[in-house]
Amino acid sequence: MEPILELKNINYAYHSLEGETKALTDISFSVCPGEFVSIVGPSGCGKSTLLSIICGLIAPEDGQVNLNGKALRDSTTNIGYMLQHDHLFEWRTVYHNVLLGLEIRHMLTDRSREYAHELLDLYGLKQFENAKPSELSGGMRQRAALIRTLVLDPDILLLDEPFSALDYQTRLSVCDDIGQILRDAHKTAVLVTHDLSEAVSMADRVIILTARPAAVAKVVPITFELEEDTPMNRRNAPEFKHYFNIIWKELNTNA
Ligand code: ADP
Repeated sequence: MEPILELKNINYAYHSLEGETKALTDISFSVCPGEFVSIVGPSGCGKSTLLSIICGLIAPEDGQVNLNGKALRDSTTNIGYMLQHDHLFEWRTVYHNVLLGLEIRHMLTDRSREYAHELLDLYGLKQFENAKPSELSGGMRQRAALIRTLVLDPDILLLDEPFSALDYQTRLSVCDDIGQILRDAHKTAVLVTHDLSEAVSMADRVIILTARPAAVAKVVPITFELEEDTPMNRRNAPEFKHYFNIIWKELNTNA
């Protein structure tokens, strides 16, 4: 299968008056359509920098990012980005928050409005369409933020620590919830997280990075023999501990 995303020998350093901070060293990996890849690594190793390069916010010093076989700048592949904070605007209703990306991209049509309603209905927020974000729970807010991204029909979703602002209990159920939504929608996703349990419970493959400057330390394919392969069921499956330990060990070797 042709990869949707391909990174080849990516290097990056930040430059400031104080000097150079090398962030990424020779990073190469690819992601196939429909695959869910988690990237883990020590805090400050370069995970967010890597996502910024994948979505074109910053250009690598060396190396290449290809989307559907084309260089990033020539690609028409649609990338969605979901961050730690939901960035919902309190002065807009949930529905109008969901429309924000469509408005910015001049993609508001009768069909796209209808699609927004459909997604809000499908993901259980229909009755909150006219509510303000402050009326939603933390989990519902993250769901609204996800719908705002999904309504743009991204070919690939980049998730940068999207659950880390939530308390532990909410985090577990939102992770389950959003993992399920993305799997059902067959979305390709790249999740950056420092939470190993989250990485194992959601991904088809976990890429472990070394401490800064980040290099790929190990790639761990994740498979669970489950009738219903959900993040919550994975957490309770016997294989979970095995994968957790492999990743934990690798991270501590490279810390
Ligand atoms: P992570 O997401 O893994 O926590 P980041 O990608 O945010 O790591 O940062 C990697 C390294 O680059 C860190 O040491 C950070 O201090 C440094 N860094 C990040 N952004 C900048 C910047 N704008 N200027 C200089 N250094 C930066």
